[in-house]
Amino acid sequence: MSHAVAPVSQNPASKDDVVRCDACPVLCRIRPGKAGACDRYANVEGVLTRVDPLVITERAASEGSVVPFLSGSEGWNGSVAAPPPAASFVTGIGAGTTYPDYKPAPFIVSSQHDGVDMVTVVTEGIFSYCGVKVKIDTDRYLGPEQAAVRVNGEAVGHVTTAEYGSQMLSLGGVHHLTGGSKKEGNVTCDTLLALCNKQAVTLQIDGGSELIVQAGKPPVVNGTPEARMRVGCGSATIGIFAKQWLGHADEVIVVDDHITGVLTEHQAGRFLDMPLSGIRVRGRKSTPGRYFQVADPGLGWGGTNISDPLEIVESIDAKAAWPGMKLLMVSTTGEHSAWYVLDDQLKPQPAEMPAPIRVVVDRIAENCEPSLCTVLFMAGAGGSLRAGVTENPVRLTLSVKDRLTRVTSGGAPVYVWPGGGITYMVDVARMPDNSFGYVPTPALVAPIEFTLQRDDYAALGGHMDYVVQLEDVLQAGRLSKLAQRADNPWPISRPTAEEQP
Ligand code: SF4
Repeated sequence: MSHAVAPVSQNPASKDDVVRCDACPVLCRIRPGKAGACDRYANVEGVLTRVDPLVITERAASEGSVVPFLSGSEGWNGSVAAPPPAASFVTGIGAGTTYPDYKPAPFIVSSQHDGVDMVTVVTEGIFSYCGVKVKIDTDRYLGPEQAAVRVNGEAVGHVTTAEYGSQMLSLGGVHHLTGGSKKEGNVTCDTLLALCNKQAVTLQIDGGSELIVQAGKPPVVNGTPEARMRVGCGSATIGIFAKQWLGHADEVIVVDDHITGVLTEHQAGRFLDMPLSGIRVRGRKSTPGRYFQVADPGLGWGGTNISDPLEIVESIDAKAAWPGMKLLMVSTTGEHSAWYVLDDQLKPQPAEMPAPIRVVVDRIAENCEPSLCTVLFMAGAGGSLRAGVTENPVRLTLSVKDRLTRVTSGGAPVYVWPGGGITYMVDVARMPDNSFGYVPTPALVAPIEFTLQRDDYAALGGHMDYVVQLEDVLQAGRLSKLAQRADNPWPISRPTAEEQP
């Protein structure tokens, strides 16, 4: 038995009839020439048709070459791809969905890799259990951990634990999609869909900032685009640059919301035999030269709420400090810096920053990586979706854990969580544009592919009667071909230990 490229209804109606879509639980009745509620299926002359093209990725002829996206098969001259079929991969994008789950997946494709018969099971999964983890490279204060993240007033997720140089959001999940009001579910679904399709979304955080987030782009916090993520915490910055300040400054304080560093107290200063400056900063001392909580979090220096760095200077010990002492205060990105010289009353007075100090401040900035937003889609494919792959679903799970089956999403590599089920994460930036869709249940629709050796597929109870040849899929219409990203592993190859647990 074989499938056409576009899944069609089991009983095509006459071209004037309403057709019923059975690709998801909504079961739309679609009038001639119209699309269903999700815009993914339409009634084309009485035939239920998946309207978007099926996306095929093709491997470039040489490693590392970059090939532009081609929309549609027209214009594709094959010059940048090795001869098919080995260099073509059928993704789940545009593949369609089968529902209920006991039906085989829309495409079960046979191909060869390195002389080995392979099978790729291709579908568009409908995920009620899904969400995104957003990493935002900034130290600016976005909001308290656990605070609600809202879109148009609806809670779509929360702020989660901060990471090194980045603030983290956890958005979506089954409780926001289905556990609240209908509006909350729909807004959450819209937000996830936009983020996964690499579009910009404006988020408001309770008790915090408004920000614009877009995969692969710098975040915009309260209207200001972020440029750099910090070189390290205040203590790390001291450690990196201490030697370069030696002989030019008598004290350096690196202002940081997490760990503010004080050079002469810090192990780096001790190691360089720098005399203690007697400058004491506010906050809670962790270890010598490392201070927590010197100020409240905010949008000022080093992710604190201060705009005048001298605010964090608690005292200056007259027994240690001296008139003419040179003090640098700088943030962890080099974005903020100030140079002071102590007067006769040991009061820091602003002065022009010497050139050697300016060089090091600039070097802090130079060592900061560009600030970006990263969006990881996370979903559970360990449920009923597996029945479209095999009659014995747990065997698919075990096969994934044993690295006999590679899981990809739109041809992009995924990380499969250890433990039960097939809970995976994928960087949406590594997927083709507009890989995601939705259904109004509400849930997200995401491409997913399972690739394994044909023998292994048969052994785990695969739907062998539904296997089609790759050549047959490639000869059908409604295809869109694009180059496989050079930094994505070829999906038909077996996963390495590093790629999947
Ligand atoms: S929402 Fe889309 S997939 Fe679901 S029944 Fe309607 S047209 Fe089909």
